[in-house]
Amino acid sequence: MSLKGKIALITGGSRGIGKSIALRLAKAGASIVILDRVIQNETVEELQSLGVKAMGVEASVTDFSSVEKAVEKVLESFSTIDIVVNNAGITRDNLFLRMKQEEWDSVIAVNLTGAFNVCKAVNRQLFKQRAGKIVNIASVVGQMGNIGQANYAASKAGLIGLTKTLAREFAARNIQVNAVAPGFINTEMTAKLPADVKEYFIKNIPAGTFGSPEDVANAVAFLVSDEANYITGQVINVDGGMFM
Ligand code: NAP
Repeated sequence: MSLKGKIALITGGSRGIGKSIALRLAKAGASIVILDRVIQNETVEELQSLGVKAMGVEASVTDFSSVEKAVEKVLESFSTIDIVVNNAGITRDNLFLRMKQEEWDSVIAVNLTGAFNVCKAVNRQLFKQRAGKIVNIASVVGQMGNIGQANYAASKAGLIGLTKTLAREFAARNIQVNAVAPGFINTEMTAKLPADVKEYFIKNIPAGTFGSPEDVANAVAFLVSDEANYITGQVINVDGGMFM
């Protein structure tokens, strides 16, 4: 799978799964733009060391006007955007009984409205090109629900609904929109979980282990390649069989 000549925009690409996606797409030859609240220069340098063009643009996905400006900057530098990966995401876990309005609002703002803002900011360009790939990073939790994650599960279920709707609306313009639903992946996000919670989840994963950020990145690399041109509106689970 070659992504030579393609320009990929990855939100939350400085660290975690987003960084792995950036590195994987760069290894396939794509130029990479990371959109993050704070750009980690080491990540940009690591990408450049792979021999591709890479840049960082600072914006919060929650703020439409800053996302719009970031997209303008990308277009000034590269003229096109071929691949968009909505990866930025946060958790603010709490049992529903105790969940504060702020915990609900902040998770919906980043995980769901953030993807809406980015899709809005790029859609005119993708339509003009009559080509493009969007991949939204959802979660098994959006399919199964999870205790203590009403906000997160709702945001990821919403993201799956957004994926399927945009897939239908954009298909005639040769733009494919898919979601990847990771299960439990070893990152800073899951490192915070207590040991007993981790043990409980491992028991429910047929593969018997957590996944790696590279496992998720490999699925994204396929979905944004020409080999996946006839795949749209799908949710690809990368979860060791947790949800089936
Ligand atoms: P992570 O290590 O916490 O990284 C999240 C990234 O998103 C960071 O770069 C963060 O930037 C960025 N971000 C947060 N809020 C942002 C905002 N308002 N605007 C722009 N960027 C923002 O998380 P991860 O584990 O890699 O998760 C990546 C995605 O995979 C998320 O959507 C998550 O829900 C999903 N996912 C993860 C797992 C898992 O097991 N880890 C499982 C299923 C789904 P800062 O450095 O500024 O915070």
